[in-house]
Amino acid sequence: AKESGRSGYQFYTEQMHIDAQQLVELEQDLRHALKNNEFTLVYQPQVQLDSMQISGVEALLRWHHPHKGLISPDKFIPVAESSGLIVAIGAWVINQACRQLSYWHDLGFEQLSMAINLSARQFFQKDLLATIKQAIADHNIPPQKVEFEITESMMMRNIEETIAILHQIKTLGVQLSVDDFGTGYSSLSYLKRFPLNKIKIDRTFVSGLPDDSDDGAIVEAIIAIAHSLGFTVLAEGVETAEQLHLLAMKRCGEFQGYYFSRPCPVAELVSLLLEHLPE
Ligand code: C2E
Ligand code: CA
Ligand code: CA
Ligand code: CA
Repeated sequence: AKESGRSGYQFYTEQMHIDAQQLVELEQDLRHALKNNEFTLVYQPQVQLDSMQISGVEALLRWHHPHKGLISPDKFIPVAESSGLIVAIGAWVINQACRQLSYWHDLGFEQLSMAINLSARQFFQKDLLATIKQAIADHNIPPQKVEFEITESMMMRNIEETIAILHQIKTLGVQLSVDDFGTGYSSLSYLKRFPLNKIKIDRTFVSGLPDDSDDGAIVEAIIAIAHSLGFTVLAEGVETAEQLHLLAMKRCGEFQGYYFSRPCPVAELVSLLLEHLPE
């Protein structure tokens, strides 16, 4: 035990050193990323149970670093968040995603909705409402086709303030969903206090399906309570036909995951949409 503790400690300090150095570099580079046009959005389809058609997409941010190549959002979003850069980057995301949605609507995919992730800093920032309002107006899109995702752990940080902000955003006519649900240790009964439309079940529960009976029970409970509270349910991280069948049997209404498609650039998404065009 002593030995594993020591090697664990060495590993930890080495990691910390690298991380601290990388962090400073990343933050410096992030400062220039917006004006250098290093960000793009990719879009992952969301498929509806009733029609088995693509009903929406989630916008996911990609950073193409000039020297380091593609950097994962799990790596740079926390840096953008702690440095405050996320506010400007997030505003760019909202505007770009709305522009893209308006383009797809003009192509004839009028039913398509766009889900946009919000970070904590962005959510609790005063300008958010104006930013959303402006983007919707500039691109002339029906607000009910735009959806904002906040994570369950964000919601639980400051419950009263979160509820108040959600109500304000709601007045714009957009949809609201809770992301990564099940990981934030909130009680299900709490959910009814939040003005939400959709619960996104975290993929850690979906990945256990169909074999893990605990995950099966958790997913079933989330779906039942979400429905009884009037929320729709989307399962994240659906990778196999077995997972899809089980979730469909439990009446989960929407799916997202590699089984249908990875997040993809605009050009690929258009061909996916054409394939799934209803007759
Ligand atoms: P998220 O919001 O939970 O997004 C889903 C993540 O799961 C995406 O990772 C997606 O590529 C991945 N994924 C989708 N289907 C599957 C699957 O079947 N299997 C597996 N293993 N993974 C799947 P990505 O794009 O790397 O994004 C990671 C996280 O970064 C996002 O998690 C979100 O928290 C954050 N993020 C991404 N874009 C933005 C953004 O524009 N703003 C903010 N604030 N956060 C963002
Ligand atoms: Ca999300
Ligand atoms: Ca998620
Ligand atoms: Ca996540």
